[in-house]
Amino acid sequence: MLIYVEKKAENYELTKRILAKFSNEQILWIDHYKNIFDKKIGNQKLTPAIIIAKEEHPNLLPVPNNYWYPGKSFFFRTSLNCVFDCEYCYLKGNFKTQYPVIFVNYEDIQGSISQKINDIRKDWYNWQITLYASNYSDIQGLDVFSEFNDNFIPFVESFDNVLMETRTKSSNIDSLLKVNNWIPYKNTEISFSLNPEEIISTFEKKTAPLQARITAINTLLTKGYKVWLRFLPLLPIDNYEIIYKKFLEDLKKHINIDKINSIFIASLIYNQWDFKTMQKKNPDSKLWNYVKLHENWLVKLPDNIFQNFSTLFKEEFPNKEIYYDFI
Ligand code: SF4
Repeated sequence: MLIYVEKKAENYELTKRILAKFSNEQILWIDHYKNIFDKKIGNQKLTPAIIIAKEEHPNLLPVPNNYWYPGKSFFFRTSLNCVFDCEYCYLKGNFKTQYPVIFVNYEDIQGSISQKINDIRKDWYNWQITLYASNYSDIQGLDVFSEFNDNFIPFVESFDNVLMETRTKSSNIDSLLKVNNWIPYKNTEISFSLNPEEIISTFEKKTAPLQARITAINTLLTKGYKVWLRFLPLLPIDNYEIIYKKFLEDLKKHINIDKINSIFIASLIYNQWDFKTMQKKNPDSKLWNYVKLHENWLVKLPDNIFQNFSTLFKEEFPNKEIYYDFI
C-alpha cells in the first residue's frame, strides 16, 4: 500500500500515529491531496493507497429537506471515500479516484462543528441538531487509520441534544468497544446498513457478511450502544419480495428489534449527473435496470416498487416507526 501525505499534514499527531502504525508501507510526500485524489485515472488498476491531508476549509453542509430526522441537520466530513467497494456507491460518481483521504486536523473540524452548534443555539433553537458523519465514507471501515471514534464520540457527547450518526457496513467494532468510558452514549448512534446476503455478495464487495454485521449489532446492543438499522439501498433483485421477507423474518429471530430505536429504508437513488457518471464507469451493471428517471430529475426505484418495500417493512415491523427518504 502507498501512503500519500500532504506536507502540511506532516506535523499532526494523527499523521505521526498512522505512519508509525504502517511503518513498512511506502510514503510519498505531496503538496495537495487533490493532485492525487482528483487525477482522472478512469478504470485503471492502481496500487492500493490512502491519502493523509489537512482539511483547509472545514465546514458543515445542511442536509436536503425531509432527509431522515426532523430538525436542523448537517453533513460533516473527516474523510473521503471508502475501503469497501459497493457497486452502487455514489462516491464513485462524485470522486475521480477510489483512494480514501483522511483529514487529520480534527481540532479545526471540531471547531467548525462547535461554532455551528453555538450559532444555532443563540437563535433559541433547542431541538435536536443531527450530524451525519458518514456521507463521504464508511467511518467505521476507516477507523483503523482515522481513529474517528476515539476523537469524535467524546467530543459529540459533550453537547446537549445533539445526535451524531455514523453508518457502516463493517463488522470491525473493536475501536467502539475500546471507547466505552462514556457509555451509555446519549448523542452517538451507530447505524448498520443491511441488505440480504444475496445483495451483499453481489453488490457490496469487501464489506462484512450479513451474519458478521448481526453479531456486531448484538455486541454493541449488549454494551449499551444506540444501534439503528438502515435498509439501503433497497434493490428489487429477482424474487425480491420473497427474499426480503425471509431476510426480515430471519433478522427478527437474531436481533432484539425492541432494542433498536429506529428503522430507515431508502431507494437506490442518484441525481441525474451522478447517474450518468456511474453508468459510464460501469456500463454493464445490472443495477441500472432497477431505477428510472423521475419528474424531479432524480433517478431512483419506480414508486410502485418502493411502495411494495414500504408495505413489507410495515408488516414485518408493525411496532416500529419507519423513516423514509421523502426526496
Ligand atoms: S460502504 Fe458505503 S461508502 Fe463504502 S463503498 Fe459501500 S456505499 Fe460507498
